[in-house]
Amino acid sequence: MQNSTLKNILIEYDKKRTYAEAELEEKKKILFDNNPELKNIIDTLNNLYLEKSKIILLNNTKKKLDIINKKIMDLKNKKNIILKNLNLNESDFIPNYSCKMCNDTGFIQNENGLSSMCSCLKQKIFDINYNKCNIGNLDKENFETFNDNLYSDEINIEKYNSKVSPRENIKNIKKICNNFINNFDNADEKNLLFTGNTGLRKNISF
Ligand SMILES: [Zn+2]
Repeated sequence: MQNSTLKNILIEYDKKRTYAEAELEEKKKILFDNNPELKNIIDTLNNLYLEKSKIILLNNTKKKLDIINKKIMDLKNKKNIILKNLNLNESDFIPNYSCKMCNDTGFIQNENGLSSMCSCLKQKIFDINYNKCNIGNLDKENFETFNDNLYSDEINIEKYNSKVSPRENIKNIKKICNNFINNFDNADEKNLLFTGNTGLRKNISF
């Protein structure tokens, strides 16, 4: 896949992420305008978390830590009561990302700190390549709708370089392909390779 394609997908992801975050900000603004006490509690909690980090970093006394933990606990309880009354919970403060696994970043970080492609990004790349292969129209073009009458039943070794007619040949190919699909999960099943010059339509001869 071209780098520009991946770049375009990631720009799309960035837009989706920004939209989800802006949407949440808008929701929060309305919520806080109507519930200033809740806003006040959340702001105070954020300051307390910051203060707590400082206490831990500076290795301050356990007494100070206990005091701050108590304050946090009390405020959290107050916050939860307000949220419950408003029929809200913590998840209402998370942007509504389309992919909850990677938060629309396309990448997931594992426990070793290494990042890997999220399945949503893999699927996106697959879809693009799939459509490029012109096989995205499977509901119309499939084995059920395949018409072998389009192939001549004339046997002409000189013309077709085969002892069987093109129709007989395509029927055999269809049989092989069907067999391949039905045995796809069989480890002993061999692969199918379609070769030929560009634009000549790939074919199998026997
Ligand atoms: Zn994802």
